[in-house]
Amino acid sequence: MGIIEKPLKGFIELPFKIGVGAAFPPVRVNFTLCYRCNLNCRHCLQRGEFRKMRGSGLQELTASEVASVVRQTLPGLTRIGLCGGEIFLHPEIMEILASTARRNPVGFTTNGALIDSNRAKEIVRLGIRGILFSIDGTEAAHDSIRGVPGTFRKAIEAIRLLDSWKRSLERPYPEISINTVIMGDNVDSLKELVEVAPEIGVRTVEVQMMDMQAYRFTSAPDQSILYTAPAPVPPVPRDLAKAIREVFDRAAQLKVTMRLKPESAPDTFAAYYANRMDLSGYSCSFPWKNIIISPYGDVYPCYMISMGNVREQSLAKIWNGATFRNFRRVLSKARLFPGCAGCCFMSRTNPVRSGT
Ligand code: SF4
Ligand code: SF4
Repeated sequence: MGIIEKPLKGFIELPFKIGVGAAFPPVRVNFTLCYRCNLNCRHCLQRGEFRKMRGSGLQELTASEVASVVRQTLPGLTRIGLCGGEIFLHPEIMEILASTARRNPVGFTTNGALIDSNRAKEIVRLGIRGILFSIDGTEAAHDSIRGVPGTFRKAIEAIRLLDSWKRSLERPYPEISINTVIMGDNVDSLKELVEVAPEIGVRTVEVQMMDMQAYRFTSAPDQSILYTAPAPVPPVPRDLAKAIREVFDRAAQLKVTMRLKPESAPDTFAAYYANRMDLSGYSCSFPWKNIIISPYGDVYPCYMISMGNVREQSLAKIWNGATFRNFRRVLSKARLFPGCAGCCFMSRTNPVRSGT
């Protein structure tokens, strides 16, 4: 949760709660800087977009275009999120990090394979607030899922470098977290991954549902995509709830914070992977607070239905334009769409109880 979102949560969510389409300025602006990636993960949601865009002639936003969008956000307050693909394949990534971090709190997601010592030092020096390393288990599981040998070691090395530069430059940031998508292939290695975390300076591990709704991430011409039936999730041949509880117990012993995404309980994860998750206790306020910008400047609420393009219109115009307001109103009425199952931004309408 961002620095303005936490203390002002009730106020910021007011338009969502009363079901109006307009919203206060976004608390977080997320740039997908490129769809290109150096890895080849089985569960990748961006690959389809990359294949579609390759050869389209569209140019990724430049550092100066990103800076111009960031200048339209609240200085020092709006959190800027950067993700890909792999952001370190963007030719101007270090300029983008420098210009955004000078003005706003910045966090990014990476697979870590392209962070060397120089980059790690610069990231720490710039005061980047948070980095989410996408790691899918211990070495064998991770490298097999990622499709490229050696990527686990590279990610761990990058985390060690950042930790070491934080110590030598005496800086508190970035906070480093690990995010793991649960699959049949990695459940057994989760406990071991949690054991590695404190050794490399990581205090938070997020465990995420495998998001099957790749079509949400495919540019859609209209809103019919909202009602497309979700794809079945490949089952995890284990007692998943028990396995997650064991990981939580081990994490507690090691003082590692565990988070389930979306916010839920181990039994909810088990139900999701058994394709019988009950969505009735969930809703979503994400599009009232967050904005996603594609590598080519298109603005999305989450589903890739374009709300406008930052190369053509100001962020404010798009954010509270007719298309965005209509999307929010439709979502408000539906509470969630069928394809939202598995999205890590769903939020519980009631506090999580064990077994729900
Ligand atoms: S690291 Fe991320 S963007 Fe790259 S292939 Fe894997 S899931 Fe896709
Ligand atoms: S849960 Fe919210 S953020 Fe996720 S896809 Fe559905 S509407 Fe979008």
